[in-house]
Amino acid sequence: MGPLKKDGFHDECGVFGIYGHHEAANLAYLGLYSLQHRGQESAGIVSSDGEKLYSHKGMGLVADVFTSNAIGRLNGDAAIGHVRYSTSGESHIKNAQPFVVEYSRGSIAVAHNGNIVNAMLLRAQFEAYGSIFQSSTDTEIIVHLIASSKEISISDRIIYALKKIRGSYSLLFLTEDSMIAARDPHGFRPLSLGRLKGAWVVASETCAFDLIEAEFVREIEPGEILVINKEGIISYKPFPKAAYTPCVFEFIYFARPDSTIFGANVHAVRKKLGERLAMEHPVEADIVIPVPDSGVPAAIGYASASGIPFDKGIVRNHYVGRTFIEPKDAIRHFGVKVKLNPIKDIIRGKRVIVVDDSIVRGTTSRKIVKMIRGAGAKEVHMRISSPPTICPCYYGIDTPRREELIAASQTLEEINDFITSDSLGYLSVEGLYKAVKEAGASFCDACFTGRYPVDILKEAAPQLALFK
Ligand code: AMP
Repeated sequence: MGPLKKDGFHDECGVFGIYGHHEAANLAYLGLYSLQHRGQESAGIVSSDGEKLYSHKGMGLVADVFTSNAIGRLNGDAAIGHVRYSTSGESHIKNAQPFVVEYSRGSIAVAHNGNIVNAMLLRAQFEAYGSIFQSSTDTEIIVHLIASSKEISISDRIIYALKKIRGSYSLLFLTEDSMIAARDPHGFRPLSLGRLKGAWVVASETCAFDLIEAEFVREIEPGEILVINKEGIISYKPFPKAAYTPCVFEFIYFARPDSTIFGANVHAVRKKLGERLAMEHPVEADIVIPVPDSGVPAAIGYASASGIPFDKGIVRNHYVGRTFIEPKDAIRHFGVKVKLNPIKDIIRGKRVIVVDDSIVRGTTSRKIVKMIRGAGAKEVHMRISSPPTICPCYYGIDTPRREELIAASQTLEEINDFITSDSLGYLSVEGLYKAVKEAGASFCDACFTGRYPVDILKEAAPQLALFK
């Protein structure tokens, strides 16, 4: 879910839900802990004891937002939770999820990962009739649609609402008596179902199941709605069949390597991306090093396919917060140095291949190349385990506007000059597909090709016009 903005959408999130466990809130907290990489801006849990919903949300990391007292106040056997990504604008508690409302039929909470591309248009229609919105997120439109539905049952109300929205969504709802999970017809974002003794568990990624020792049951299917309550679990598939286009960038960067998403293990896929990269862009060198942590699996793959030794040439400080107090006398490249530090003894005098998963604006790669050279490398060859990022994402990954994407306007040579590497190689789109083939043949690859599975011009353009 994301704030409604005219320059596109900024959001990446994780969702977790559990139904039928006496420690629901505590397990939701642990589930969110495992999904922390999907969002660091805010965290929240809403629980239900069968009669009432209880909510606790805050800005910051899961471990900072929840104390054991706060978890203790989240009564009941069912809970849903959400982590939201840190982005430039609209960082506000009012946008933290799960979003809870009271309406004519009771209470409902919603947690959303994805992006509703026609949210602005729908919101303008509601506002024209006097509706008042509490947040600036696209997610809130869903509860307005549910509340305005003439249907009786919650499942029919949710179906009514989801039929009106376009874009990407992996959703969890909680009412007094039911937990409902839904995945959009294209299946953009991952969402899996698990079992923990008698309880049902749903999570964005399977790494959340591992921590709480839940068993993976299956992925929630594209276009599927699962209603879980005392009566059991019911699956609905109310949408016309759409092309299955899961997000390939989940494999490249976003998901955790220990997760299985879209039918394949993320680490294994990343290693294959690195192997393909080595086949497409070989270069004579002494050592392969990853940009930690995102480049590690691809660098392992590159090293094994090329036969060039892998080593850890850069160490990452995992405890870096948001702001640093800089010394008055400026230190060169201070920002990147706080986070990453080269191991000079490994790098000095070597021809180094540096592997990262992607280049967005190019500023990180530029700093890293300078850092490696500063550590005494003889040559620095940059290798990227994805194709050039040329288009923004409208389905739930935080990418900047097209103007800021270096590969949208610059050639390979120009990017190589900008980042000051001796050579630069990106994986081809064909190579990407060969590496992910285990997970299927079709993906959303819009960030690399500009082919948007849900028509952005048709859906988003009228919304953008509202802001002119
Ligand atoms: P940049 O300096 O903008 O080129 O950033 C590139 C770095 O950002 C790479 O190391 C990527 O691993 C990382 N990255 C790529 N996509 C994202 C994203 N959506 N959110 C945060 N970091 C990202």
